[in-house]
Amino acid sequence: MQKSSLISKLKKSLIKTASLALLLSSISFASCGNVYFSKISGQLQDNETDSERQGTVKVYDSSNKKLLKEIMTDSNGEFNVSLGWFYQKLILQARAIKEGESTSYVRTIEISPADAQDLTVRVVPYEDLLKKKIRLEEFVDFAQEAIGGWIRKWNLNNIEGVEIIYKNPFDGTVITKAQQDFIEKKYLDSENIGFFFEGRKIRIQKDDASTKQSEKHYSWKPTSIRERTFDMIKDIIPDKNWIVIAGFKRIILSNIDGNPAGVGLSMVDKDSYINAGMIYLRGIIGAGLLSHESEHTILGVFHSKILPPELTLMCLPIKLDKPGFADKKLAKIVNETTYMPREKIEDILGMDFYSE
Ligand SMILES: [Zn+2]
Repeated sequence: MQKSSLISKLKKSLIKTASLALLLSSISFASCGNVYFSKISGQLQDNETDSERQGTVKVYDSSNKKLLKEIMTDSNGEFNVSLGWFYQKLILQARAIKEGESTSYVRTIEISPADAQDLTVRVVPYEDLLKKKIRLEEFVDFAQEAIGGWIRKWNLNNIEGVEIIYKNPFDGTVITKAQQDFIEKKYLDSENIGFFFEGRKIRIQKDDASTKQSEKHYSWKPTSIRERTFDMIKDIIPDKNWIVIAGFKRIILSNIDGNPAGVGLSMVDKDSYINAGMIYLRGIIGAGLLSHESEHTILGVFHSKILPPELTLMCLPIKLDKPGFADKKLAKIVNETTYMPREKIEDILGMDFYSE
């Protein structure tokens, strides 16, 4: 279970991270007046294999979305666009085309003079959706609902590890050695939770009764019993760049009915990068529940009712025991390094060009 309000409440308690220097480099030009450009070059690729794609590239004047140029890439996806005039800001749209048929969604990016050359433009391919008879709009709606408007994401290279707490300091719930081994196996399986880490081998720390305080990657701030309803889940605060897993007996959440079997939280910094995660698991730890809560935490996504539970862990009740087709496609989008935090789904999964 996860609610956006949980995230916003937790945000306040987060350590502020250094900006990851993703501000557009155009800012550095501001002091020397307007900089214009008239040439754009790059390569069209897909975001799932990073291989080149042939397709259409359209360039618009950013101020009025007027189409300035439309070209086809060469067979290697390479494009070079020369404009007859100088512009300060442009919008580029691209889509893969094969034998006259569109094979991807439309990618939209705003470009500035500083980043107009050697662009890597990645589009989300959809041949697999057509093959599975999933409507293209349906997958867009699923992604919209799951992502909740814009992308929040980890920089996967920053993840220090996953720590499985032996004994929850709040209620004493123990995650046994066998359960820890089970969790570890799922995290290291590249077809299971490991998929969300793009196949990286993540360090798993399995605590036991002798784990020293200095080896723990979370802080523990007991609150009074009176405050322990919703607030209980804030008692364990993971360190920056750690995902921490704990057992629990009972959490009464003010905005979720009943006693959830699990809670998966992601902590988001001011730039919408996820920089810590917390997972609570109750009782018997099932593979589906573990994968579901991990998806909340790693991809920063919410529940969605659009696609059936045979295709995604995020449609309740959970039917899968590992990431489904839609979870994997979504993970490739969230983890795509050229898609930045706060980018909107419509700029990644566009149905049409501005001008057809
Ligand atoms: Zn959930």
